[in-house]
Amino acid sequence: MTQTPAFIDGERVRGDQTYENVDPADGRVIGEVLRGSADHIDAAVAAARAAQPDWAGTKPEQRADVAQAYAALILDHVDELALLDSQDTGKPISQARADATVTARYFTFYGRAIDSYYGLQLPVDPAFHVYTRREPLGVCGSVIAWNYPLQLFGRAVAPAVVTGNAVVLKPADETPRSAVRLAELAIEAGFPPGIINVVPGIGAEAGATLAAHPGIDHMGFVGSNPVGRLIAGAAAQNVVPTVLELGGKSPHVVFPDADLDRVAQFATKGILQNAGQTCSAGSRLLVHSSVEQELLDRLRAAFEATSLGPGSTDPDLGPLISRKQQDRVSGMVERASGTVVTGGSAPSGGDLGQGAYFSPTLIAGVEADAEIFREEVFGPVLVSRTFETEDEAVALANGTDYALMAAVWTRDSSRVHRLAARISAGQVYANAYGAGGGVEYPFGGFGKSGYGREKGYESLDAYTATKTVLVSL
Ligand code: NAD
Repeated sequence: MTQTPAFIDGERVRGDQTYENVDPADGRVIGEVLRGSADHIDAAVAAARAAQPDWAGTKPEQRADVAQAYAALILDHVDELALLDSQDTGKPISQARADATVTARYFTFYGRAIDSYYGLQLPVDPAFHVYTRREPLGVCGSVIAWNYPLQLFGRAVAPAVVTGNAVVLKPADETPRSAVRLAELAIEAGFPPGIINVVPGIGAEAGATLAAHPGIDHMGFVGSNPVGRLIAGAAAQNVVPTVLELGGKSPHVVFPDADLDRVAQFATKGILQNAGQTCSAGSRLLVHSSVEQELLDRLRAAFEATSLGPGSTDPDLGPLISRKQQDRVSGMVERASGTVVTGGSAPSGGDLGQGAYFSPTLIAGVEADAEIFREEVFGPVLVSRTFETEDEAVALANGTDYALMAAVWTRDSSRVHRLAARISAGQVYANAYGAGGGVEYPFGGFGKSGYGREKGYESLDAYTATKTVLVSL
């Protein structure tokens, strides 16, 4: 059976220790994956340390050119990369293609941005010439989740490498293949060996070794809250800065003057895209009581019109990532208070019964202290409750430990800006919703959703440190 190798210092590295890669659509084993060890992580970090200084010494223009060439190469391989992610995650093939295209966009965006990323000149004292330099950190470790393997690679790697760093990335256990393929393509695009290294493996093994490695200068993590704490704790022992992108329980806040057709359209996509396995999924609906029934009717119709199936048939929803995830979602829905408006279970029987599917689910009238209202489900489950006043809406919106994204739905522009300031979230949409929210916009959480920002120009700051130079004239 084919083995997904590591990619270290420009070479494929295979080994005897492997684990199985399982297709969540039917439980079939689709390949073996190298179970990356401490030796693999050591080798990858050493390769990155050796390659990084020369790379950092290149002109920004040269790094920009390589990043642009890489983006073009990724676009040439969209179908191949999308197939790998669709098979590994179960996601519909068109969504996987969109992910591959966004991955290319990360390298285009940061490839352009680095050309105009400057320090400052500080005219404080005529007797001194004082200026700042933005310097790369060195070797950046990255551990990412399984829900958007391609995009998360682009989001972490693009800003790191254009600023002159090298990267060692551990993809999620379930979704190793696209990262390894991207690392191979990086060589073809012109990145020197050792600048982008990928070591697949088990989180508690390869992931934990990477986070605690003394040769790492920055640690990025996308995943769950409990693992994020472990990663940050390990990195702190080496005094290594971290960016944590953790979960969310993002609300749509819907006022009576909202365009309900548009709310239903965006709220449906915001929770069903990627079968709800999106950190920034809009998973809570807070709706004014006067329009609750009208909105629930629209959402029920939209949810019931969706199709489920294997990613290869390009349905609206593929399976969840695994049977384990399906059990977790089922358990949370079974324990939920409120009224199930539609869905509420995993399809049984037929082809869908063979896979890790879950029906689009809408639960109304949930209590604000219920698990299903406060905790991330990471499945196609939208819960709703009503409010009467703006203050109550804000309290409910801010009523979880998470604070990643939010949407406000109203035609009252003053209310939009009032709520944008009062709601705790890293991104606030008004009268729209884009789970994930764009390459160009800073993204990240408040509260238990994590810290640091990725995406946008700000990400360049995360992968560099300021050096101030003071010269007596
Ligand atoms: P997870 O935390 O279980 O795994 C994420 C990564 O951590 C994987 O690569 C895994 O191998 C690794 N890992 C697991 N245990 C580890 C350990 N002890 N030490 C080091 N690494 C370890 O999360 P998941 O289940 O893969 O992903 C789902 C979670 O990710 C959700 O909570 C979701 O909200 C979050 N997520 C957040 C964002 C964001 O940008 N905020 C994006 C995607 C996913």
